[in-house]
Amino acid sequence: MSVFFDRVALVGIGLIGSSIARELKHLMLAGHVAVSTRSAETLKRAEELGLGDSYTVSAGDAVRDADLVIVSVPVGASGAVAQAIAPHLKAGAIITDVGSTKASVIAQMQPHMPDGVHFIPGHPIAGTEHSGPDAGFVGLFKGRWCILTPPEGSDAGAVARLRALWEAMGSRVDEMDAAHHDKVLAIVSHLPHIIAYNIVGTADDLETVTESEVIKYSASGFRDFTRLAASDPTMWRDVCLHNKDAILEMLARFSEDLAYLQRAIRWGDGDKLFDLFARTRAIRRSIIEAGQDTAKPDFGRMAAEETA
Ligand code: NAP
Repeated sequence: MSVFFDRVALVGIGLIGSSIARELKHLMLAGHVAVSTRSAETLKRAEELGLGDSYTVSAGDAVRDADLVIVSVPVGASGAVAQAIAPHLKAGAIITDVGSTKASVIAQMQPHMPDGVHFIPGHPIAGTEHSGPDAGFVGLFKGRWCILTPPEGSDAGAVARLRALWEAMGSRVDEMDAAHHDKVLAIVSHLPHIIAYNIVGTADDLETVTESEVIKYSASGFRDFTRLAASDPTMWRDVCLHNKDAILEMLARFSEDLAYLQRAIRWGDGDKLFDLFARTRAIRRSIIEAGQDTAKPDFGRMAAEETA
């Protein structure tokens, strides 16, 4: 199984696109990397950073003759990008994306895909709260899962090539259907970000607590929320709009459980509180054992700050 692609087109060159670009170069996985992004400013920065071999603001030009096209733009822009690239795609090309929601991306992109190309959506569960071409780095995907959601009837050879590429970049790869992906990600990623945005917003609104106190005492727990709440507003607006059903379902569950917790606190039910906190502590231990975080002080976060 060859992991080498003669020509790769990267549409979108922010945190994820530029990390892929850096990996392709570092691992020498592509003969030519065509970089495309919508703004001249980001394109210039990508060129200054030497992220590819050719640069264009035209996604259509970038994908011409490409064997592999990786779309790394906010999920709400997927449909427009698919429409722009569709007439220029080469027969036999693999088209993938990295979007944080999958059913919506498929609904937006699939109708534009011409016969004879292999459309295999994906989502690397790796990232940081930083954006843009400067934010990417080699090693972002190392040890992290990448979920592929190939539509039914996908070409097994094309899926295997894409899987091999993610594995070469250090990822572990899983396959599942898009609806399942969206449910799982709603609880492990989307809900935590929404909670973080909410709690940081609440603290900001509190008149009894000054901003300087919020900053000064943030290490008491608030700080970890602020890291998530610093994530890109465009990306997270799109995630909320494009995984609406699964997120609302998880939010409803969350609110019920919060009411249970609230009741236990109100009635001084220490046993209930202790049981829950003991159960959640065990989950933290399992995450460390699974290699998805470190038990170092501060969770080793000085080195790599992760979200998905
Ligand atoms: P990013 O750093 O903000 O970069 C976004 C890229 O998309 C830039 O090249 C930007 O172009 C382009 N773009 C923005 N809006 C666009 C539009 N309306 N039409 C066409 N292009 C547009 O974003 P990112 O963090 O790499 O995220 C990219 C994708 O990866 C998203 O779908 C996100 O859900 C997914 N993802 C993110 C993470 C994470 O932690 N950040 C993790 C896993 C997956 P210009 O700069 O030229 O405007």
